[in-house]
Amino acid sequence: MNAVKQYFLATMFLSLFFVGLTNLLASSGTQSPSVHWDYEGELGPDHWDRLVLENWHCKIGDMQSPISITITEKAKLDEIIFHYHPTPLKIINNGHTIQVNYEKGSYITIGHKKYDLVQFHFHTPSEHVIHGKHYDMEAHLVHKGDHGHLAVVAVLIDKGKENAFIKTLWSNFPKDVGTEHIVSEIKICAKHLLPKNTAAYYTYPGSLTTPPCTENVTWFILKTPIEETKAALDKFTSLFKHDARPIQPVHGRVVKESN
Ligand SMILES: [Zn+2]
Repeated sequence: MNAVKQYFLATMFLSLFFVGLTNLLASSGTQSPSVHWDYEGELGPDHWDRLVLENWHCKIGDMQSPISITITEKAKLDEIIFHYHPTPLKIINNGHTIQVNYEKGSYITIGHKKYDLVQFHFHTPSEHVIHGKHYDMEAHLVHKGDHGHLAVVAVLIDKGKENAFIKTLWSNFPKDVGTEHIVSEIKICAKHLLPKNTAAYYTYPGSLTTPPCTENVTWFILKTPIEETKAALDKFTSLFKHDARPIQPVHGRVVKESN
């Protein structure tokens, strides 16, 4: 084997190893708790790519999320069919947000594709900006499909009337960080987080909005917001003042909008 061939094979091996590692980390949907990151300062979004090798997408990816949605292409889009079932409340403060982990058995279908609901969590303010508007919060319902591809349904949240579902979650905020609390006497169903109209949405190909920023996400942003009270918003922001990644370049991606 000549030197050029050896070099070529070594490069190819390293690339495959790197892609495999990235996919493995992405498919786990989590990151090692030892890797710290934040939304500001030295560990903030401008530095995520330097914190650990697999975060390279955060810097040089060209399909990053969130984005500002202004120009869209109207299209006849498949309806998202929600098959959400009640589950015991499993809630965790992971240091970046409040996350609710979901038991197996709930899923969505979009056209012929099926994605299992894994967890949902919250950002403030909204990560996506819709025609120049930041909403007060944005919930992300994270679903996993074939080959670890993710479908994230985003629900925008405005200040307004009381939301009983959010109130239940907020009254079970874990006081500690990093431990999942199972509140078995409380059953929740993620369908109560959805607006009445789920037929109207934007969709585009993007990434996780947290490290490692993997570009394996199809986003579905529901156009109809839900509401929560100012007191509920204040309760969340007392724990997480700001947990939204800045807007990323669109790089020629097309955002489709249901008509
Ligand atoms: Zn999120």
